[in-house]
Amino acid sequence: MIKSTFHSHSRFDDGTGELEEYIQSAVSKGFRVFGFSAHAPVSFESEWNLKHELFEEYIKTIKTLKDKYRGTIEIYAGLEADYYPGCNDWRIKNGIDYTIGAVHFIKNEKTGTYMPLDGTREEFEDTLKNGFDNDADALVTAYYGLVREMLMKMPPNIVAHLDVIRKNNGNGRYFSEEDDHYREEVMKTLEIVSLSNTIVEVNTGGIARGYMTEPYPSRWILEACLDMGIPVMVNSDCHHPDKIDFWFEEALELLTDIGFTHQRILIGDEWRNIRLHE
Ligand SMILES: [Zn+2]
Ligand SMILES: [Zn+2]
Repeated sequence: MIKSTFHSHSRFDDGTGELEEYIQSAVSKGFRVFGFSAHAPVSFESEWNLKHELFEEYIKTIKTLKDKYRGTIEIYAGLEADYYPGCNDWRIKNGIDYTIGAVHFIKNEKTGTYMPLDGTREEFEDTLKNGFDNDADALVTAYYGLVREMLMKMPPNIVAHLDVIRKNNGNGRYFSEEDDHYREEVMKTLEIVSLSNTIVEVNTGGIARGYMTEPYPSRWILEACLDMGIPVMVNSDCHHPDKIDFWFEEALELLTDIGFTHQRILIGDEWRNIRLHE
């Protein structure tokens, strides 16, 4: 497998370490391609996101690294862009090679605040209670509805951790993935993914950080992606230079077992389907 990740954080947002430390780690682990995807700035208070005033420095630092490591590793500048009604369109920003579209927050219409969907269990319960009167089906509908809206209004290159609302749902604590309502929401979303020509990432970051035992999205969703011809890619969503290829071997095995033969990545400045085994 050509080793790559397009989903990585750093000290510019909620990760640890300088951008160059990630590149040094990538070179030592035999990566051919590495993409940075800081959480794009948002219009509300957030501890995770890149600050507006650091945006230029982020882009400039990546550009310097691109030049310094040319011939050794390909480097791309991306953003993990939060979608919420009224958000910025980062796809057209100068210096950005690609975006990963993500829904991490839902606006509470009563209070005007943005509630996290993949925070701690306590934060998730607050969101469920304050935003949805403890109706998990309503939260599921709202989350996947926002993902679809993002895909229709501002399709990114890659859709982030498609079923991230599973984060706190160990043993089906809040909702069941077997439930018709849940499955319909996911399948409706995959139809829009397929129409918008977006890549679904296999995100191993939750495992690296100890929240999950399996990647996002669930295996049955990946099986549906294969059936529908939706391209996939393996991303580590790393927040530390040592974790850039965490669970990659297992992800390769999982995709092969499901029947995937290729992943789609950005290489040589082009989005290409690359064989998983070569
Ligand atoms: Zn994310
Ligand atoms: Zn991320």
